[in-house]
Amino acid sequence: MPKIVSISKPIITKEEEKAVLSVLRSGILAQGEKVNKLEKRFSSYVGTKYAIAVSNGSLALLLSLLAHGIGKGDEVITTPFSFIASSNAILFASAKPVFVDIDASSFNINPDLVEEKITKKTKALLIVHLFGCPCQMDKILKIVKKHKLILIEDACQAHGAEYKAKKVGSFGTGCFSFYATKNMTTGEGGMITTNDKMIADKIRLLRNHGSKVRYYHEELGFNFRMTDIQAAIGVEQLKKLDKLNGIRVRNALIFNKMLDGIKGIITPKILPDIIHVFHQYTIRVTKEFSLTRDELAEKLKAKGIQTGIFYPLPIHKQKLYQRLGYNDRLPVSERISKEVLSLPVHPGIIKKNIEYIIKSIIKEGE
Ligand SMILES: *Cc1c(COP(=O)(O)O)cnc(C)c1O
Repeated sequence: MPKIVSISKPIITKEEEKAVLSVLRSGILAQGEKVNKLEKRFSSYVGTKYAIAVSNGSLALLLSLLAHGIGKGDEVITTPFSFIASSNAILFASAKPVFVDIDASSFNINPDLVEEKITKKTKALLIVHLFGCPCQMDKILKIVKKHKLILIEDACQAHGAEYKAKKVGSFGTGCFSFYATKNMTTGEGGMITTNDKMIADKIRLLRNHGSKVRYYHEELGFNFRMTDIQAAIGVEQLKKLDKLNGIRVRNALIFNKMLDGIKGIITPKILPDIIHVFHQYTIRVTKEFSLTRDELAEKLKAKGIQTGIFYPLPIHKQKLYQRLGYNDRLPVSERISKEVLSLPVHPGIIKKNIEYIIKSIIKEGE
């Protein structure tokens, strides 16, 4: 039995250590040249004119909504199957999240169900490219255009993912997280990508207490900045992103090949016109499997294999949302939350351990 096979692991090497040390020795620790550098490189990577670094991904979402003028009385259509931040950002902006059920094969919002939820109050569509899998952008963009909606992309799990050769985060206002477990990290950190100069300028103002000229304040902002220490890590992480994403994809393909066809296990589909960056490799354990999802997770844990359940309870079913009066029935997300199981796919996992995980699952399924 190997030591614990962990579900995620940041890849930090000498380059990050050197970069941080040089910032520490420079004496300029807060937002400065390194943040500028990371912003420039990130915008050119994603293919947008602007990128604005902020303290974390949740704030990237909130600031995007605020910069677009979304607030009280506005409805924002979003997915119930995500990390809570994507929906809580809407609440923090004083707007109302409206949930649309997901498509079972991609775990993403089902574009075919969006239009029936559009009302006069609908101002934006906040989609999540969950687990690193791009949403069906052709359909999404058609709806956005037809109903003149603002498009916010939660790409917090999808750095480098592409839909028809275009990077996610470049279709609308893109929001990224650099939290420790994401495909690239700065410890904590976030980034907003946009082609709209007005939005970029507005976010820069909001990020810095509404101030362009020091100690002169044009509007209500706050401190949402990133430090140069974080940005220095980010610059190094970005250089490695494509390579590390490639390893995630390779790992996912090994899992798919070996797990496909096992009764009661549904593996993630990889569609031809997308690049899925496998922030998580998530299978579904259905009733046909010999164990329940939770039993399988327990068995794997006993063998030293960490797994993850993202997410055990859809957002509209969370206590907070129940208190707010949400009583939607969203059957796909409700069922899927009981079936999902994420296996370690991160670039730090060795092939021998992938084989060990596969063998362990096959054995439990017998
Ligand atoms: C991580 C994550 C966020 C929030 O990012 P933080 O940097 O942790 O604030 C938002 N949405 C999704 C889908 C995420 O996975």
